[in-house]
Amino acid sequence: MAFATQGCLGSRTAAHGGIGGASVALLLKPASEPAEAWIAQFRRLMPELEVRVWPEVGDPDEVEYLLVAPLPAGALAQFRHLKLIASLPAGVDHLLRDPGLPAGVPVTRCVNTDGDGMMTEFVVMNVLRHHRRLPEYHALQAAAEWRKLPQPTARERRVGIMGMGSFGAPIATRLRGFEFEVAGWTRRPRRLAGVACYTGADGLPAFLARTDILVCLLPLTAETRGLIDARALALLPAGAQLINCGRGELVVEADLLAALESGHIAAASLDVFESEPLPPASPLWRHPRVTVTPHVASVTRAASAARIMAENIRRLAEGETLLNLVDRDAGY
Ligand code: NDP
Repeated sequence: MAFATQGCLGSRTAAHGGIGGASVALLLKPASEPAEAWIAQFRRLMPELEVRVWPEVGDPDEVEYLLVAPLPAGALAQFRHLKLIASLPAGVDHLLRDPGLPAGVPVTRCVNTDGDGMMTEFVVMNVLRHHRRLPEYHALQAAAEWRKLPQPTARERRVGIMGMGSFGAPIATRLRGFEFEVAGWTRRPRRLAGVACYTGADGLPAFLARTDILVCLLPLTAETRGLIDARALALLPAGAQLINCGRGELVVEADLLAALESGHIAAASLDVFESEPLPPASPLWRHPRVTVTPHVASVTRAASAARIMAENIRRLAEGETLLNLVDRDAGY
């Protein structure tokens, strides 16, 4: 396999082979911050670890840990001695769809279990924008039309959050603070104070029917791909609004555009897309009631991700339960 192996730019932060005397390396494919920022974190947390930076893999047999943004398809197959694979993005669909993903190696992801401030800011901001009908006012402004739209109070506004995991659950609690009527939809039953909880395929129609502002924070799995299609959109009340910060492939974009055109969906804020970067020809760029952001709702920060990774390497060595372990069968 033709991956670059022209030496290591990464940091050998202490004696090479500090773990058990053999060469042990962590391969990093960074995102959001330069490699140096990540290396500095590991130098502080785990000086015995050699950090190599993609694509300078070195001898792949020496790589035991991966901490990676999406790699080219098939890249995983070259590593034969992996002990732990960690996803930099909170969504692990990029790893699970790689045919080279080795069986039996734990897969983890870098999320703060106590919530993510960036995602919370982004979603709360958008719920408030949609609640106060700003996307529709922007469209009216573009048409130089002075028109007041009916404005329910937060208590009269029903927000529905699909996915109540590390992102969705703390956001639900924050939105309750504004007195929105909040519901969540999950795969398995769960309870959260002040939040109506709906579960599985059976609970979906009732969840959608009571939702004025739909927030999508689901992972992309075999079960969730294309879930928000014409049928699901039709179950939302007329005039409902959509915020998608999960994955683009959760929403069938053609169906969403049709629902926007018919007016059934009043407005949408989309941070993720079927194809990224969003192609210039996509009508979503130019739709007057669609807000496009380039997958920026939350970024994994080096400081917290390196801390979680170092803790998991330690836990692995001690035989302890890993943080943020992915359930490969469930797909998230
Ligand atoms: P978690 O794994 O913590 O939570 C996922 C939630 O989705 C859980 O509540 C889970 O239900 C629910 N869920 C999964 N499958 C189904 C299903 N088939 N039916 C109903 N509910 C389902 O994920 P996070 O909250 O950490 O992240 C969510 C997603 O956000 C990521 O997978 C990623 O795609 C996206 N993301 C987007 C970013 C951006 O910048 N736009 C940045 C980072 C992530 P249950 O509770 O029953 O397990």
